[in-house]
Amino acid sequence: MAQKILIVEDEANIAQLLHLYLEKEGYETETAPDGGKAVELFRSYTPDLVLLDIMLPVMDGWSVLKKIRAESKTPVIMLTAKGELSDRVTGLENGADDYIVKPFETKEVLARIHAVLRRTVGEEEVSGEKRLSFDKLVINLDAYELLVDGKRVDTPPKELELLYYLASAPNRVFTRNQLLDEVWGFDYFGDSRTVDVHIKRLREKLEGISDQWSLKTVWGVGYKFEVAGL
Ligand code: CA
Repeated sequence: MAQKILIVEDEANIAQLLHLYLEKEGYETETAPDGGKAVELFRSYTPDLVLLDIMLPVMDGWSVLKKIRAESKTPVIMLTAKGELSDRVTGLENGADDYIVKPFETKEVLARIHAVLRRTVGEEEVSGEKRLSFDKLVINLDAYELLVDGKRVDTPPKELELLYYLASAPNRVFTRNQLLDEVWGFDYFGDSRTVDVHIKRLREKLEGISDQWSLKTVWGVGYKFEVAGL
C-alpha cells in the first residue's frame, strides 16, 4: 500500500507542486490549506508522514504540531522560511522529526521524507506502543481509544481488545476459540457466542467507514480483519 503524506501548506502553488511530485514518486497525498483543516485531516486521513508549514491561517504550524504530538508519533517535517533558525530549533524541540528550508528542491524533500520514514518505521513495535492505524481507523490500546473517521467512539475494553487482536494480524483468520483464549483468557466461562456478540457490536460502529478494511466472517471458521491490497 502506498504511504500517505499530508501536505499542510497555504501557498497553493507549493502545495500543488509537492502534491504532483510526491504522487509521481508513488506516495498518496492529501493537502490542507490551513491549520484547522490540517488537524481534521490528520485524524481522518491517518497519514504516515506530515509536511507542515509554519505560517498558516486559522492555526499556525506550531499549534498543529502540538495537537499531533498529543495523540501520535507520526513523523512531521516542518517547512520553514529561509534563515529562521529559531523556527528549526523550536520545531525539533517540539517534536518535529526534521525541517526543510524554503525555497527547497523537490529532490531534497523526497530525500528527507525517505530518511525520516526509514528512521521511524518499526518504532511503534520497539517502543511497545499498542496503536494500529488504517484508513480512517485508529485502534489505540494504550489509551483504550477507538478513532473512527477522526472521531472518538466509545468502545468497551473487550470490544477494543478483540478488534486490536484481529487487526494486528491483518487477513489472518482466527477461530472463535482462539479469540476467546487470546482476548478473554483461558479461564473465561463464556462460549463462542460472546465473540459473535462483540463482533456484531464492532460492526455497527465500523460499518461503511472505509473500503480499505473490514471485519469479515469466514463461514465455518471464524473471523478476520481484512485489509485490501495486502
Ligand atoms: Ca505559509
